[in-house]
Amino acid sequence: MGSHCDDSFVSSVKIPTIKFTKLFINGEFVDSISGKTFETIDPRTGDVIARIAEGDKEDVDLAVKAARDAFDHGPWPRFPGSERARIMMKFADLIDQNVEELAALDTVDAGKLFSMGKAVDIPNVASTLRYYAGAADKIHGEVLKMSREFHAYTLREPIGVVGHIIPWNYPSTLLFLKISPALAAGCTMVVKPAEQTPLSALYYAHLAKLAGIPDGVLNVVTGFGPTAGAAISSHMDVDAISFTGSSEVGRKVMHAAAESNLKVVSLELGGKSPLIIFDDADIDVAAQLALVGILFNKGEICVASSRVYVQEGIYDEVVKKLVEKAKAWVVGDPFDPKVQQGPQVDKKQFEKILSYIEHGKREGATLLTGGKPLELGGKGYYIEPTIFTDFKEEMLIAKDEIFGPVMALAKFKTIDEAIERANKTKFGLAAGIVTKDLNVANTVSRSIRAGTIWINCYFAFDNDCPFGGYKMSGFGRDSGLEGLNKYLHVKSVVTPLYNTPWL
Ligand code: NAD
Repeated sequence: MGSHCDDSFVSSVKIPTIKFTKLFINGEFVDSISGKTFETIDPRTGDVIARIAEGDKEDVDLAVKAARDAFDHGPWPRFPGSERARIMMKFADLIDQNVEELAALDTVDAGKLFSMGKAVDIPNVASTLRYYAGAADKIHGEVLKMSREFHAYTLREPIGVVGHIIPWNYPSTLLFLKISPALAAGCTMVVKPAEQTPLSALYYAHLAKLAGIPDGVLNVVTGFGPTAGAAISSHMDVDAISFTGSSEVGRKVMHAAAESNLKVVSLELGGKSPLIIFDDADIDVAAQLALVGILFNKGEICVASSRVYVQEGIYDEVVKKLVEKAKAWVVGDPFDPKVQQGPQVDKKQFEKILSYIEHGKREGATLLTGGKPLELGGKGYYIEPTIFTDFKEEMLIAKDEIFGPVMALAKFKTIDEAIERANKTKFGLAAGIVTKDLNVANTVSRSIRAGTIWINCYFAFDNDCPFGGYKMSGFGRDSGLEGLNKYLHVKSVVTPLYNTPWL
């Protein structure tokens, strides 16, 4: 059922004053042309936090024009990489100086744990910037050996104006996985944060300006997907689009790119990641990994281990541990340091998760624990940690990405059965394996079609480790040097070694 912190529902942490609510275009905070605004809400209560400028096609046009001018005529792409790096380092320092306020913004806007934001998410954003700042002056091509008497080399040039479309589950982390390499590459950009979580992106825009990022390089247009988002993906003057979000919207973005100027597209999409626990696993460790794998960030994480397969020899013991741990898991106000799970991001997501739980019951899976909303002070979008067992891959709870604290658990006998069931999904984002047997770990990791495989760990991310999907989880990679390369064109330059043969 999940225990909860009812008494601490009203937090003592100071909720930040909301300083930035307007679009950020060409270095200035401006109202939308229509003058329209939309509400962003606090998922702990459902109350309105602030009204945010609602950007639309005309605002996107202005932002793209600013980015185009900055790319075609401004200093950013022309700076030596070391100068971009210097400014990016300053940007990172400013983030470090404002960690608490930034973490608090993501907590009120997205229901994320404040302690996690303060200790991990926001410091990691600064480290992502520094990682790519370190690469900014090491972008170079290759010297090529041509078959005839020619000399050739490649140049790596910034791809141009980039559109970044961001989801709500990691408003800071995902923003910086995109803007940091694009800045290092010398690109200019238009960012559209998710409509549920616009607050921190606007704050970061303010810090970017303070750091010295020239006007027009980083523009932020807050607004809705079908309007502002669609205007970016179909824009004729946007050279590349880097999208993170659902597979359904990813398909629309790709379609818009194809119908407009065939811009370069990379898609980081949804998942339904399997975690496979073998008989030789430490039961307590495996149960903890499985639980955290689905409940971390209240299940609103693309790589959540939403399908857990446990080998028959330890299945009963793992189930017992999992249920015990799920019942002890603390749900409540994400500002409270004792709390492990905050509210779902909004009413729509809350209702979607509950409707999947009802599907699971109707389809015949067994509900082991949870399954209900949690009444915390009669407000907010809290859901009990929920575990279903006896699921089949054909059931909706096993096929669809629920994006909530809902685990589907099953028993398996052989390694082949585990591999077959794990691969029985349209997604391919990540997978986990728990075993002490190297042969098993290596066989399974090479047999699963997914972009990241964690062996005896989960959620182990690093700036240097590329991240992305197979199958309908998308294509292209964020993070690592792969994440930088997607913002660079390769140009081949060829010249005769001696007299030109054409004369
Ligand atoms: P979403 O697809 O609904 O929205 C993502 C972004 O796209 C938002 O900014 C939204 O406004 C915008 N958008 C919506 N319609 C659009 C359109 N027609 N054209 C252009 N943009 C449009 O996703 P979400 O609900 O915000 O986020 C959850 C999804 O994101 C999950 O599927 C999750 O798995 C995925 N995700 C993937 C990764 C990854 O790295 N693979 C990381 C985090 C989240």
